[in-house]
Formats: sequence, C-alpha cells, structure tokens
Amino acid sequence: MKDRILYHSTNRHLNTDKITGFRKKVTFKQALFMGQAPDKGLFMPTRIPRLSKKDILELKEKPYHEVAYEILRRFLSHDIKDKELKAITKDAYNFDIPIEKLDQYTYIVRLDKGPTASFKDFAARLMARLMHKIKPKDKNITVLVATSGDTGSAMGEAYRGLNGIDVHILYPQSEVSPIQKKLLDSIGKNVRTIAIDGTFDDCQKLVKEAFSDSSLKRLNLTSANSINIGRILPQTVYYFYFYVNIVDEIQPALLSIPSGNFGSSLGCEIARRMGLPVKRIILATNENDEFSKLLKSGIYRKVEPSRKCLSNSMNVGNPSNLARYFDLYNGILDKDGIVHKKPNLKEMRKHLYSTAISDEDTVKTINRIYKKHKIIVEPHGAVGIAALIKYFKENKKRLSICIETVHPAKFPEIIKQELNISPEIPESLMKIIKRKGKPGYLPNDYGIFKEYLLKKG
Ligand SMILES: *Cc1c(COP(=O)(O)O)cnc(C)c1O
Repeated sequence: MKDRILYHSTNRHLNTDKITGFRKKVTFKQALFMGQAPDKGLFMPTRIPRLSKKDILELKEKPYHEVAYEILRRFLSHDIKDKELKAITKDAYNFDIPIEKLDQYTYIVRLDKGPTASFKDFAARLMARLMHKIKPKDKNITVLVATSGDTGSAMGEAYRGLNGIDVHILYPQSEVSPIQKKLLDSIGKNVRTIAIDGTFDDCQKLVKEAFSDSSLKRLNLTSANSINIGRILPQTVYYFYFYVNIVDEIQPALLSIPSGNFGSSLGCEIARRMGLPVKRIILATNENDEFSKLLKSGIYRKVEPSRKCLSNSMNVGNPSNLARYFDLYNGILDKDGIVHKKPNLKEMRKHLYSTAISDEDTVKTINRIYKKHKIIVEPHGAVGIAALIKYFKENKKRLSICIETVHPAKFPEIIKQELNISPEIPESLMKIIKRKGKPGYLPNDYGIFKEYLLKKG
C-alpha cells in the first residue's frame, strides 16, 4: 500500500508579523475534526493519487457508490477500513444522476436528485457519515453549522439520525426564502435548527465564539462548514462518474461549473490532477467577478460586499477555496484575500477559465435553453451554460459538460416569471416538507446561545 496521504495548511510557508504558518502535517481524521488549520489556512492533501486511463475506463457503468468508493479509497485507505468506506458510500449515494444531451457537443448533468435537491447533498452525506464512523465510539460530538440557506438543509438531512452526534444549525431568520425555512425547520431528530434574529454574519459570529469558549469543552464541538476537507474530497467523484458515462473513448472535455466558494470546481481540479482528461475547467460565476479579473490581470481584489445576484448561492466575493487553488499553483492567499505569494498564472490560465455572467444573461439563458431544448434550468445552472456559450465564442467547440447544481423547484418564482411554468416539487423535498419540525428561535446574543447549548448538550 502507498504511503498515507497527509494534509498541510495552505498557509504553510507563511511567516509574517500577523501569521506564523502551521508547518505540521496532519492525518485526514485530524483535518476532518479540526476543520481549519491553526494558522487559519485550509487543509490540502500533500499528494494527489493518480488513476491510469485503464483505471478510469473501468469505472464505466459502475453504480455511483462504487465509483465513489474507488476514488475515495485512494485518499482514505489509512483512515477508514475499505469495508466501512464501501458501506458508507453505499448508504450515502442512493439517488440518480441524470445526464441530458443538449447537442452534438454539450451535456447537462443534474446533481439535484439528492434529498435536498442540491448538489451539496453529495458532500454533506459523505462527510456526515465519515465523521460518524471515524469519531471515537464512546464520545458524543456536537456539530455547529451557520448557514445562509441551502447548505444548512443539506448538512442537517445528512446528519439526521446519526447517533452520538448532536447538530445545531443557525440561520438568519429573515434572510432565508420560505421554502428554505420550511426545509430547515422540518429536519428534526438529533438536528436542531435555530432561527437567529440577525444576519448570516451574526450566526457565524455566534458559532465562532462558541468554538473559542473553553467552558463548552465537554460538548466536543466540531464544525461542519464549507472549508472542511471532508466536503471537498467527495466532490471529485461526480466528475469521474459522468465523464465515463458520457464518453466512449478517452478525450479531453470542458467542464463548466457554477461557482461561488469554488469547492465544486476545486473537486474538478483535483480530479484533473488525478488523471481525469479535462481540457479546461470553466469557473462560471455571477457578477462576483474577482476570479475572472485575477486570471486576466494577475491582480486579486475581493468583491466586498459581495454582489447580490439571482444565483444567490454564488454571491461570494472572496471564495474560501481560492486559497486551495493558490496552493495548487504555488501561491499563497490568506482567508482575508491577501496575496502573500503570486500563483503561477500561466499554468492557471492553461487549465482554468472564468467569466462573470450578468443577471440579464442568466435570465436570457433560462429562456433560450427552454425554447431550444424544452429543458428547464434555474439561475445557477444557467450561469454555467452561459459561461460555456461565451467560451465557445473565443475557442473551438469540443465535448463539454455543464452542471445543474440545484432543482428548479427551489426557485419557483423566477421559473414562473420567465417560462410561465410551475416546476414540480421533487418527492424527496415533499417528504421533508411534510414532516412536523420543531422550529427554534434565539435572539442574537451569545450568552443566551451558550446557555441553550449547555442545556441541550
Ligand atoms: C453552493 C452552490 C453553488 C456554488 O458551489 P461552490 O462549491 O461554493 O462553488 C452553486 N449552486 C448552488 C445551487 C449552490 O448551492
């Protein structure tokens, strides 16, 4: 068996007045429960395993959970027994991944068939099960999550029913849509959701303060936020899965990926480095255009505050996973968006392309795709398709794959307004909505939040 893969911090070489780099390497298990490195960098694998062309083609026609096992065991074989990983992937992935052909060159893959109808289910379901399996059997843990919407319900559903883990999800009372609130409030069991009388930032502050509060030590607090490496690795799998199910023989493909915090596209970048034949990754963003500007000018400037666009899960002006891209291209970026070392831009441009899509173009694309193909896409997916269309204006056409990240029924207003259609709510969502939940509410006050945690824990 190959050497164990360890994890380093994206700030590893840093030594400034402000930050001393964390030079230690940790195991996957440690990285999973630490979430963030002590120097506030993000964990990255020190080595990326390779698959041969033959390995890749052998994934063809395997069910998704077997592909997940084949990919993930290459990272995790020292951290979890093969048999256990097999069982976890089988339990986590029991839903479809439809592939729709648009034309001779273009495919759309729908990652919206999980329980909460969002691609976040892919990462959430695996990470929750890994935590459950890897944690010491005799130790209960408490997971805290601050969410602005969709991530919260994906994480909540993923942890629901896993014993020994208590989950508390904080969301901003007046910043979530009615359907999001309904989904959050009906999770139940070991997962409690709390509407906070404040903003998403307030929710994050409460969670952060709890983590640094030593009097909560007995609760064994763990975070499950979007920067956890346990959420990135599962997102390498779907690229292999649909690639082999689309091609007959190995050929380089374009991947157009709706991007906010860049976690999904980073999964693709890692898959490419594992050997997946990717011509270029298109990081499709909404009007938060900091990355396309970086690729053009070499200068990174975060968008602050982030721009509010229709594809609201992508309203991110300083993507957290950009630090990981910098790491892969020999640069260093800290969490505040300060560049400590420039990445290799020439290499970046060779493999990555990014373009910012306006709301106007997003809506036009929703209409265009429906008119031409009778296929309904929602704003996030439309951004991906529009970015590909833009790319084709400057580059040769070739096999390309766009990703739809969420079900159109989660954006009924815009679909109704543009196409005069009310998208049918998927069964999995109906099942959640019909449950009787126990909505929680707390004011934006750390003292009260702490008291609540101590009482529940
Ligand atoms: C989170 C999210 C995205 C963006 O994914 P990142 O991994 O943050 O880049 C795109 N679409 C939807 C619907 C999302 O929820």
